[in-house]
Amino acid sequence: MIPSHVAEMLKNIRARFDARSIAARMRPDTAAFRTLRPVRHAGRDSVERYWQRLGEIGAVTDADRDAMADPATLDLAETYSRNVENFIGTVKVPVGVIGPLRVRGVNAMGDYNVPLATTEAALVASYGRGAHAASRAGGVSTAVLYEGVIRTPAFRFDGLLDAGLFVEWIAGQGDALRDAAQATTRHGRLISLEPIIDNDTVFLIARFSTGDAAGQNMVTIATDAMCRDIAARCPVTIRKWYIEGNFSGDKKASFLGLMTGRGRKVSASVTLPAAIVERHLGTTVDDMLDYGRVAGLGAQLSGQLGAQAHYANGLAALYLATGQDAACVAESAMGFTRMEARGADLFCSVTMPNILVGSVGGGTGLPSQAAGLNILGLRGTGHGAALAEVTAALCLCGEISIVAAIAAGHFTRAHEGLARHR
Ligand code: NAP
Repeated sequence: MIPSHVAEMLKNIRARFDARSIAARMRPDTAAFRTLRPVRHAGRDSVERYWQRLGEIGAVTDADRDAMADPATLDLAETYSRNVENFIGTVKVPVGVIGPLRVRGVNAMGDYNVPLATTEAALVASYGRGAHAASRAGGVSTAVLYEGVIRTPAFRFDGLLDAGLFVEWIAGQGDALRDAAQATTRHGRLISLEPIIDNDTVFLIARFSTGDAAGQNMVTIATDAMCRDIAARCPVTIRKWYIEGNFSGDKKASFLGLMTGRGRKVSASVTLPAAIVERHLGTTVDDMLDYGRVAGLGAQLSGQLGAQAHYANGLAALYLATGQDAACVAESAMGFTRMEARGADLFCSVTMPNILVGSVGGGTGLPSQAAGLNILGLRGTGHGAALAEVTAALCLCGEISIVAAIAAGHFTRAHEGLARHR
């Protein structure tokens, strides 16, 4: 039996098209088109040319152009074009701030104001409420447990025997391969190289520490140098190698990432006194625990990688506001949230294995993103680990607030009030 939603979809398509007209729509169209010319190094002129062209072929107006290519943006066209190709302007994402978020960490220590860029009303208010409760309780204690951004190149051989010989050779090359990789970077360090054999294919899990940078470019460049060294010197015939075997979990959730981390692994916790739960979260410890059990069951039944409520909300907003790679939310939004009774009080923790943030590099130097890091006081050298700890603390606050809101039956009301009827 076809499920009713599929039948409904088919019916809707049939109401609009017969089979011939659908076939005509889907037939390849080889008519000539004018490509938008790629621009690497943008300036006012290239931006203007793009907008002219978009005006010729689309429905864009001068107002659209002015919204993206406003004067302040145009002044910095060259700066922005270091982080994007075919630059036509900037999208203005609203930024809210919460604070203070008190953090008592191994690396982060103090009261932080946290900028959050989002278009989701209620998000900032919710994180702010969690931060207020956690800070009132004395702050979030947190530590980076482990770090190691990975690239996983793949090597192909004639068969299992050669794959084994390759691994045997690699095992004796630690120092030389470390030197080859580290020759490309002042801050990246190759901390381990673990081979995974699948018959005629070998993946190498190359794990790096990356200083204060998130490090994705750094590890790619370093791994490439290492692979070239392997290809040049390895006595075993390598049929082919690839810089990434799609094993690392780069920009996707994976079991490997959940278990061993890719980026910084951070744990953060706070114990909320019952009075704070009641006064500042509008619910009770028992109600939060009960909903916590339901949410844990839901996570298990639905096959979540980890068990958490909405790390992605805080991560995406913080990543955007501070120049991190927003696509890495796909891998960072994994981990485990726990809520347990501690006497009459509520212990809450998050452990997140894949926080990919940097206080240098990537988009952190762009004007408004640098301002975001300045608001945190975590811009530049020496702040990468602290930024990761604040990130985990922020996610913990989001977990506390959403669990409280759903436990108290306030979740829908808050969204209605803040998103619909403001
Ligand atoms: P990056 O801006 O490419 O590199 C960081 C730079 O900062 C390096 O030149 C590094 O020098 C320098 N640096 C200065 N002080 C540092 C310090 N204290 N600690 C660490 N580095 C310091 O940024 P990245 O973090 O490597 O890569 C992040 C970017 O990669 C993001 O924009 C993301 O979008 C992108 N990305 C790339 C890939 C990929 O496969 N290539 C995948 C996903 C995302 P040294 O190199 O000499 O150490």
